[in-house]
Amino acid sequence: MSQKIPIETSARHIHLSQEDFQILFGADARMHYTKELSQPGQYACQERLTVIGPKGSFEHVIVLGPCRSVTQVEISVTDARKLGIPAVIRQSGDIAGTPGCILAGPCGQVELKEGVIVAKRHIHMTPSDAIRCHVSDNENVFVITSSYERSLIFSDVVVRVSPSFRLAMHVDTDEANAFANEKDPSGVILKLFGGSTYNLQSWTEELQQGIYR
Ligand SMILES: [Zn+2]
Repeated sequence: MSQKIPIETSARHIHLSQEDFQILFGADARMHYTKELSQPGQYACQERLTVIGPKGSFEHVIVLGPCRSVTQVEISVTDARKLGIPAVIRQSGDIAGTPGCILAGPCGQVELKEGVIVAKRHIHMTPSDAIRCHVSDNENVFVITSSYERSLIFSDVVVRVSPSFRLAMHVDTDEANAFANEKDPSGVILKLFGGSTYNLQSWTEELQQGIYR
């Protein structure tokens, strides 16, 4: 039987470097934990920031802890349009050449030269999950959602394997709105054509012509 992958929605959020955190919230400030997130060690903070782009801004954007080595802002394509910056799809941490923005906090502002990404949809899993699902780190797969009357097949879903992860697929709010209409959405992995739609059209044509694969 296929492993059921819980699908979780990441709303827009910010990871801060220690240095940027102190500029924005004050030299003596510390993060205030509010809620544990699904990935072990990650948590939501009480701290909120305003994200400012050339065309618009978002207030009260949540900061996630703990601090990271580099500041990164994760938004949806819809958010990028409102801010007036390009929507660049990247894996977390891969921010070279991405757009920047201004972050405004209670004690200061930070002008990011880069670091605003639309997170590439991904699945966190442990090495044993990977064996069970017959996938490996950085592999791209399809995921078929289980949602009622609006199910969807996502392509280009990257698998991330680490012993410190817990099994969950992460999508942004645009992606979630496109399919999720129930409380605990899930999906199953479909391994075909390297998980990308690149060859899907010719595959469809061959299937239609009755060629068994
Ligand atoms: Zn994630």
